[in-house]
This record gives sequence, C-alpha cells and structure tokens, in this order.
Amino acid sequence: MTTLRALLDSGRPSFSFEFFPPKSEEGSRTLWEAIRRIEALAPSFVSVTYGAGGSSRDRTVEVTKRIATETTLRPVAHLTAVGHSVGELRHIIGQYADAGVRDVLALRGDPPGDPNAPWHPHPQGYRHAHELVTLVKESGGFSVGVAAFPERHPRSPDWETDLRHFVAKCRAGADYAITQMFFHVDDYLSLRDRVVAAGCDTPIIPEIMPATDVRQIRRFAELSGAAFPEDLAHRLEAARDRPADGHRIGVDYATAMAERLLREGAPGLHYITLNKSTATLDIHHNVQSLTLAGRY
Ligand code: FAD
Repeated sequence: MTTLRALLDSGRPSFSFEFFPPKSEEGSRTLWEAIRRIEALAPSFVSVTYGAGGSSRDRTVEVTKRIATETTLRPVAHLTAVGHSVGELRHIIGQYADAGVRDVLALRGDPPGDPNAPWHPHPQGYRHAHELVTLVKESGGFSVGVAAFPERHPRSPDWETDLRHFVAKCRAGADYAITQMFFHVDDYLSLRDRVVAAGCDTPIIPEIMPATDVRQIRRFAELSGAAFPEDLAHRLEAARDRPADGHRIGVDYATAMAERLLREGAPGLHYITLNKSTATLDIHHNVQSLTLAGRY
C-alpha cells in the first residue's frame, strides 16, 4: 500500500475525515452511516480520535479495527501517551498491527477532565509526543503523523520553542502532521513557512472544522485555544433561529478557507466530521468542484 507520505508528496491534494468513538448504540449507528457515506467518496484516509480514558479508548481501538477490516477505507488511529505505560502503548500498537492498521497519529494528549490542568506523565510512560513517535516507528511498518498548532501549542512559552519541539517530532520520524483546528488561513501559512525555514519538509495537513453552530464552535475553540473570528460569530449568532442559514454560513466560510489553503499549496484537507457528514460533505463537494475544474 502506498504510504501516506508518498500520497502527500504526489502533488494531488489528499482529503480525509476525522471521527470520534461513539458513546452509545445510537451514536454508533450515526457514526457508521457517516462512515459508509464517506467511504463512497474514496478519501485518502479517515482518522479516529483517542478518548481521554476508560471505555472510550477501547471503542477507538474497536472502531479503528472495524474500519480496517470491514471497509475499503484507510484508518489512521490517534493514540495518546496519557495514562499509559510504555508496555500498554506497545500492546495497543500490537493490536493495530494485527488488524492491519498501519497508520498512527502519535500525540501526547491532555490531562483528562481539564485540558489546562498540570500535565503529569504516567510514571512508566512518556512525557512528550516525540517519544511516542519513536516507539511507533520502532514497532516497524507504521506511518506516523503528529499534531501541529497554527496558533502554537497553548503551553508553549514562545514561537521559537514551539517550532523547536515540532521539528523534534519530525526528526524522530513523523511522516506528516495534521493541524489543530484554526479559522485564519494566515496562521497556517505562517506555521508552514516557519517549519520550512527551519529546514523541515514534513507535510502539514490543515484541519477544517465546519462552523455552523456558534455555541458549539466557541466551546471547541476555547478548549483548543483557536481564535474564532468575531465577524463569523456575529453572522452565526444572527442566524441562530435559522439553522439552514447557519449551515450555509459555516459551509461557505470553510469552503473559502479550503480553497485558499489548496491555492497556497497545502498538501490536503482533513475534515472534522463530529460523526455527521452533512456540513463536511457540502464543503467537500464545493472543494471537489473546484478541483475538477482544474483549479488545483
Ligand atoms: P507534544 O508534541 O508533546 O507537545 C506538547 C507541549 O509540550 C508543547 O507545548 C510542546 O512545545 C512541549 N514539548 C514538546 N516536546 C518537548 C520537550 N522535549 N521539552 C519540553 N517541552 C516539550 N488529544 C486526544 O486526547 N486525543 C486525540 O485523538 C487527539 N487528536 C488530536 C489530533 C490533532 C490533529 C491535534 C492537533 C490534536 C489532537 N489532540 C488529541 C490534542 C493533543 O493531544 C493536545 O493538543 C496535546 O496538548 C498536545 O499534543 P502533542 O502531541 O502536540 O504534544
């Protein structure tokens, strides 16, 4: 199978979709409906986020393995160092290898409950993501992605430190990166330019979050530290009682972002789906029409 890095270096933009592990039977049904709709589009890959702890983690492993064995999709398994000893991390990586999953997004993760609480690594675990990158790479045959932060990681004291640590993850063997959600294309372009100037050629895939519900997005933006544009917030607030208008506003904003990102040479687009496909598919459809028209 072609590696993700080779796909990203091919010059044709990748497109991919992110899911989270469902919490209920009904959630599972919604997720699988979305997965089947997205499968029909033959995306470059889909990814499944890793829960903060407990049973949601088992569900991540379960869903990722099921995607690998029951669909034509290429799953990327998110994996975090939170609360795991190195032995446990090895065990999870082994489960993925057995199920034919060959792609892992290696993350440090955040303290469970409050992402801003002090970070304490597991006593037999890892302190930073680059160590997990090394472990997965040493496990053989895996393609490994890492996180990138267009507005810099909230705990990084300055840009220079943030860049140094990002480049260290790439030097540890990361094949590509996916960004945190962001709403200003210039933030992505500045990050990419800084990384290139540091002599690092790891492709960075921008993450696209459809912003159709202002309350929900503000909460996500607060958690991730992403700056949410005030003019977009006002327009969404004004359309609060008209969901169809809110949908259109969010889809148009994300389409414009996606279009500019591809024009500026981003290697692909990674869509957050929230396990639903409607807004994401509308954005993807708009972007595909531009791609087919030969714009990228
Ligand atoms: P790191 O690269 O370890 O960085 C964390 C902080 O430590 C940064 O400030 C960095 O500058 C600093 N640092 C790194 N190395 C060193 C060093 N050697 N010395 C000192 N400081 C250092 N979380 C989940 O729980 N589950 C998910 O599925 C998930 N998926 C994500 C997907 C994407 C695309 C992104 C962008 C984030 C995701 N996250 C997820 C959130 C992520 O786990 C958090 O943002 C976390 O705080 C940072 O993870 P990281 O892998 O970037 O950590």
